[in-house]
Amino acid sequence: MVWYFFIIGLLMGSFLLVVGERWSNDKSIIKPRSHCDNCQYFLHWYELIPIISYIFLRGRCKNCGKKISILCPIIELITGLVYAFSYCYFGLTSNFIIALVLFSFFIVTCVSDFKYLVILDIPLLMTCFIVLLVYVYDKGINYFLLSLLSGFILFAFLWAIKFIGDKKFQRESLGGGDVKLAFLIGATLHFQLAFIALVIGSLLTYPLALYYIFRKKEKEIPFGPFLIMGLIICYLFQNEFNTLLQYLVL
Ligand SMILES: [Zn+2]
Repeated sequence: MVWYFFIIGLLMGSFLLVVGERWSNDKSIIKPRSHCDNCQYFLHWYELIPIISYIFLRGRCKNCGKKISILCPIIELITGLVYAFSYCYFGLTSNFIIALVLFSFFIVTCVSDFKYLVILDIPLLMTCFIVLLVYVYDKGINYFLLSLLSGFILFAFLWAIKFIGDKKFQRESLGGGDVKLAFLIGATLHFQLAFIALVIGSLLTYPLALYYIFRKKEKEIPFGPFLIMGLIICYLFQNEFNTLLQYLVL
């Protein structure tokens, strides 16, 4: 079973790469078929096998010899590993489904936000939809309503930060995508954990933010992947965090 999910993860990784890349450029994910960006050479099915094709082709396009990014097989491998890990961690439960969806959204956002500084609406909406659907079926209507409420509160909270920040710095302080992402974080984790996720996400962004500002002299920092990482960390360790919170509150 573990291997089964590992292989599904590899294939999904390959697909999520295409989604992140093409949707960031307003292109269809179906047409045209997978091809070399340099020479438009259409890839055969055996050149699309995750990782194995990369090794087999020695990281180059068979037709024009252009280098294929090493990041592609690495991202495929990571997706395979996190899919297998989610299965080992949660077993075949509803948490497992949500973990898969969150990790998949994380992979897409890594491509879209690091490369193009956007968080894609459709993958975000689909992730929210699946999470809420699982909650309705698995945890009942009250839990679902609390999710919706938490989502809106987190959204409003980040929107307020953005509003004040934009006024103060006279430029975009926080991306619109990050504000929408806050809804997903609130809906998945509910208030308390969601705020912890925001803190963890911000802390994780710190090293890269310093690098961007001082070395690259850039002001726009991809915040999305780190926020989702904070979300995933809180989701995986929700029991531990909740216990901790109880100690702190009491
Ligand atoms: Zn080529």
